[in-house]
Amino acid sequence: WAMFNHGLAVGMVREAAAITTQISGEVIPSDKPGCVAMALREPVGVILGIAPWNAPIILGVRAIAVPLACGNAVILKASELCPQTHGLIIDAFLEAGFPAGTVNVVSNAPQDAAEIVGGLIDLPQVKRINFTGSTTVGKIIAKRAAEHLKPCLLELGGKAPLVVLEDADLDEAVKAAAFGAYMNQGQICMSTERIIVVDAVADAFAQKFAEKVESMPAGDPRDGNTPLGAVVDTQTVAHCLNLIEDAVDKGAKLLVGGETSLNVVMSAHLVDYVTQDMKLFRDESFGPVVGIVRARDEAHAIELANDSEYGLSAAVFTKDTARGLRVAKQIHSGICHINGPTVHDEAQMPFGGVGASGYGRFGGKAGIEAFTELRWITMETEPGHYPI
Ligand code: NAD
Repeated sequence: WAMFNHGLAVGMVREAAAITTQISGEVIPSDKPGCVAMALREPVGVILGIAPWNAPIILGVRAIAVPLACGNAVILKASELCPQTHGLIIDAFLEAGFPAGTVNVVSNAPQDAAEIVGGLIDLPQVKRINFTGSTTVGKIIAKRAAEHLKPCLLELGGKAPLVVLEDADLDEAVKAAAFGAYMNQGQICMSTERIIVVDAVADAFAQKFAEKVESMPAGDPRDGNTPLGAVVDTQTVAHCLNLIEDAVDKGAKLLVGGETSLNVVMSAHLVDYVTQDMKLFRDESFGPVVGIVRARDEAHAIELANDSEYGLSAAVFTKDTARGLRVAKQIHSGICHINGPTVHDEAQMPFGGVGASGYGRFGGKAGIEAFTELRWITMETEPGHYPI
């Protein structure tokens, strides 16, 4: 996970550096004789980036790289759970030669988060905010920013569906689902949280997937030889166990897992026959548990996938890629992968969600739009004619 964090973060910095020569404007034909009209992109000022702990290097770098490339100064509000890692990102930028005052970091004690974040949003120098974190806090930030009419980019929670149709390559679907559900113990906003399988292949998929999950033990991350390590805290374990208990009480079947102790090294859990009335269907687990939801057919699978307030990432598995595209277009999410995992990020892609997953896009050209002001500037080259 650390290697992936570092690799992608380096890619994000390279991509941001490349953007510096791509921030182009346009000359727009004017109706007025002699008038040269231009649309120019300019830096907006200071951008506040607020990043969470779960992908600390990637999300800390993402919060500042493109904003800096667009000519802004940045303040990174570090997560209380990884202030040193976020601080090291700023050290690296300063060491690379950014002028004093352009790259800044602020950290806080957990109990001071609301006051510190609120105060930073209120600063007149701060013109835009990007926030990656929970939907609950995202709403607080959007409201505070709205009081000043400051635009926000919000990357919030998710409940990503992975749809398996009857003509899917089940082995590929199993590999992608296992990676998507359990990489970093399921603590990724794009993590596969609901595996929606059509009835025709549901038993076969559930059996193959359970075998795969059984083969992925959790262990001490310091040994580094198990696919799953520790989750961030015991609260995550309690939350996941609560979701599992609620599902099982309402008729779901626990296929893999079953521990009850609040040990941060939580093993992979798999629950079958998850239905819409269960908390596991709706609430982000942000932990090593995933549910299989059985669908009658393609239309039902799409309906189930869309029955969520969230809409960040999604995936569809089918050997008929044109069908995959038709289904992908009907899923309400910012991102959808056909025959690939829900967890997939690249620096140059427009990354972001819809609904409770937020709004705005990081990455590539979308990032330029997010972190520059588009201005209309005219230049008169002939004497003016005025009606009065
Ligand atoms: P969080 O929302 O609890 O915390 C994020 C930040 O909000 C912290 O810096 C904290 O200081 C601040 N904060 C907390 N309370 C606040 C308040 N009352 N007012 C203002 N600021 C406050 O999120 P987290 O637990 O650190 O991260 C996990 C969440 O992030 C998950 O929901 C996950 O899905 C989401 N996430 C989204 C993406 C994405 O790109 N969409 C990526 C990673 C994580």
